[in-house]
Amino acid sequence: MKKIWLSPPHISGNELQKIQQVFQENWIAPVGPQIGEFEAKISSFLGGQNRHVVALNSGTSALHLALKLLNIGSGDVVICQSLSFAASVNPVLYEGATPVFVDSEKETYNLSPVYLEEAITSQIKKGKKPKAIIAVHIYGMPYKVDEIHRISAKYEIPIIEDAAEAMGSRYSNRACGSFGDLALFSFNGNKIITTSAGGALVCQDDIQKNKAIFWATQSKENEDFYLHKEIGYNYRMSNVLAAIGLSQIDVLEERTKKKRDIQQFYASFLNDIDGFQMFDECSSEYKSNHWLSIVEMDKEKLQISALDLMRLLAKKNIESRRIWKPLHTQPVFAEFDFYGNTVAETIFENGLCLPSGTAMTSADLNFIKTEILAAIKND
Ligand SMILES: *Cc1c(COP(=O)(O)O)cnc(C)c1O
Repeated sequence: MKKIWLSPPHISGNELQKIQQVFQENWIAPVGPQIGEFEAKISSFLGGQNRHVVALNSGTSALHLALKLLNIGSGDVVICQSLSFAASVNPVLYEGATPVFVDSEKETYNLSPVYLEEAITSQIKKGKKPKAIIAVHIYGMPYKVDEIHRISAKYEIPIIEDAAEAMGSRYSNRACGSFGDLALFSFNGNKIITTSAGGALVCQDDIQKNKAIFWATQSKENEDFYLHKEIGYNYRMSNVLAAIGLSQIDVLEERTKKKRDIQQFYASFLNDIDGFQMFDECSSEYKSNHWLSIVEMDKEKLQISALDLMRLLAKKNIESRRIWKPLHTQPVFAEFDFYGNTVAETIFENGLCLPSGTAMTSADLNFIKTEILAAIKND
């Protein structure tokens, strides 16, 4: 039986040709013309001006360098979204800084403006004014941009926009990845477009961009011998992978449309069943790429939990997945402050990520539909 994966890579068809070109010209290194081309394409996708892009080997390294550009170090407080992937917090710890976790609001699953402001004022009272806010567009759904950026401006705390899951999403018709003081994308294999592994940092000027490239390439000073005055990293994207990215970004709009169609397909039958509710945009300002389609389940009404449904689908070779476990409930982050209630935990408890691969056929989707309907009837 064929396996239906959650969100597998989907090639455009032009990748091998681009890679062949790279091999012919022997740019098989973390340096070469394709990197610059890929950066320019991302920058123009974001609207060009003031968006200076650095291609890196992961979204995690992009976040790490964003924190370094904001001078975040030992003892500094950084506000983080609890309902997210651990990679959106780990680099805070790499720098010896302290994450402070904030709960979500229900409409976008992202930073609650209320708890965000409570976290900021409470930390200020303790003499620990936060130095940055990492705001995530989780599952591709834009966070409440106007409200979150109003709070950021009020307290003069910069925003690092984690758009790892949100390439192709828009808020007020403006691309996600263009809002933050700094922003990042991921091109990991499961993301909407991929370079197999990779990421990008979005800076506001060339000074930041050049500094990030300097750190990403071992902080080698411009001398005729190897001179190092700062700690460096090996974070640059491989030129071979940038060639893959060049083909992938060309199909981003197509992929976004397909992801949105998949979400609509699930909504077309699940929203008619009492106990299922698809996670969707709360107003027309929001355009999610619906990186993953999510259904919220009422286990009393359905007599089956999200976990039960996941296990039943797995028996049919259909991969679904639980929501990110809130980070403030993770053993590794248990010691850090949390501001909020149980919104993120409730979403974790009742939500399920459904297969969202853009290469799925209508036969695949109908098979999933049949199996979901069978799962709730049998119980
Ligand atoms: C995937 C992801 C990252 C990290 O990106 P990598 O390229 O895997 O390092 C960061 N934040 C979020 C929200 C992600 O989903």
